[in-house]
Amino acid sequence: MAALQQNDIILKSIPYTFKDHSLLDSRAFIGGKWTPATSGATFPVYGKVTPRPDYGNFESLTQLPADPEDGKVAFHVANNSRDEVQQAIEAGQKAFLEYKKFTHRRRRTLLRAWTDIVRANREDLAAICTLELGKPITESYTTVNYGLSFLDWFQGEIERLYGDTIPAAKADNRIFTVREPQGVVAAITPWNLPIAMALRKVGAAIAAGCTVVLKPAPETPMCAIAVAKLFERVEGYPAGTLNVVLGDAASSPAIGEEMCHNPLVRHLSFTGSTAVGKYLNGECGKSLKKTSMELGGNAPFIVFEDADLQKAVDGLIASKFRSSGQTCVCANRVFVHSSVIKEFAEKLQATQEKTFVYGSVWDPKVNFGPLYSQRGVDKIAKHVEDAVSKGAQLVSGGAIKKELGPYLYPPTILVTGENSPSKANKTPMLFMIEETFGPVAPLIPFDTEDEVLSLANTFQSGLASYFYN
Ligand code: NAP
Repeated sequence: MAALQQNDIILKSIPYTFKDHSLLDSRAFIGGKWTPATSGATFPVYGKVTPRPDYGNFESLTQLPADPEDGKVAFHVANNSRDEVQQAIEAGQKAFLEYKKFTHRRRRTLLRAWTDIVRANREDLAAICTLELGKPITESYTTVNYGLSFLDWFQGEIERLYGDTIPAAKADNRIFTVREPQGVVAAITPWNLPIAMALRKVGAAIAAGCTVVLKPAPETPMCAIAVAKLFERVEGYPAGTLNVVLGDAASSPAIGEEMCHNPLVRHLSFTGSTAVGKYLNGECGKSLKKTSMELGGNAPFIVFEDADLQKAVDGLIASKFRSSGQTCVCANRVFVHSSVIKEFAEKLQATQEKTFVYGSVWDPKVNFGPLYSQRGVDKIAKHVEDAVSKGAQLVSGGAIKKELGPYLYPPTILVTGENSPSKANKTPMLFMIEETFGPVAPLIPFDTEDEVLSLANTFQSGLASYFYN
């Protein structure tokens, strides 16, 4: 822990005691060694959940402004250079030459050991996620379990990595395919499900016999570090099977370039926004590098006039407001038949008021947390202001709940009414053309099935869609 520059005040002020403090580190993991950046450069990670006495009697510990001057930086972690990313890739390649020879059964045994270690440490992992991201602790547990479900599944699949036999044109010929591990996989993850995304990407790659260089989002590096700490405890992986490089937003482009252009990287696995995914995919395309892209959405949620409205409301609460609206499959545009939109809005407001519990994100009863950063707040405020300026009516929410911290944006319901995007010649409201990624439900009236299908399909991404009838 000597290398960890941490703010002990923040760690002491959270109502959780880490069972294993060694999971908290500030260094990159390259070739089996924990290393600070050669230049000594670091970047800050903000602890989002320190108590503020001046919040009065809210019985809550809440997010603090991300202000280093106020001592709210929880950790300083290594800010890696492009050279260090190259070293990590080379370490991954060295490990690959050994690891690729492991039998399927041996890989499964190792993956099972890692899964068991992750499972045994899930409370600490959830706490790191809550500390970095401000996710309510119960939700953090759920996302760790979600990540574990991938590891469980990949273990089972390892022994089912069969090839194919294919009929040939000539009677005495045989065509068959054999599945081989590709090599080093570069993996880039977003901040919104930091542990689950890391487990999903690393688990899939090592199950297939590949090695990994993982770069987490700068808001949540500690989650990836902890995942790698647990990986290191498995005896039997060659050093360099998993590497973690770290960087802030200013370093990401250079890290991304190295990952896209280094010939030793055989596959880039990216989860994040569509714009960044398109860019990285384009860069990888230059050398025909394989990619896996999990990108953004703008999910339509359609409620027809014959739907059970309460069921649809319950579905929308889960799909729109889960993780404060910060998941890729969250409903973004809510189309409701005009004959039921008023009743639907009333039921939605009443149900959300009953459903959500605010307060300390360390309280297991709390089920609605803050947004991840000021960047998130600004985007949501912009979407709401834009919709209101174009005639939408605010039914509830629409502003930060300041008493619960600077990033607590409450569930917000808008009705676009007469100025609906479905009416001709209107400038589209921003949520029609951009993913909001926050707890805003714009209700848009429609009259016919053809009309709503055409509206739902105006957006080019089709990550998720929902309908009730
Ligand atoms: P983002 O801005 O695209 O960033 C995702 C990751 O890419 C971060 O680690 C980011 O680091 C990094 N990055 C950005 N530009 C890069 C570059 N030029 N080279 C290398 N890395 C680069 O997305 P986000 O805001 O973190 O995440 C939210 C998005 O992810 C939403 O659109 C959501 O829908 C999507 N998502 C999709 C899924 C899915 O399964 N389809 C799951 C979860 C999230 P920096 O921040 O340092 O730039």
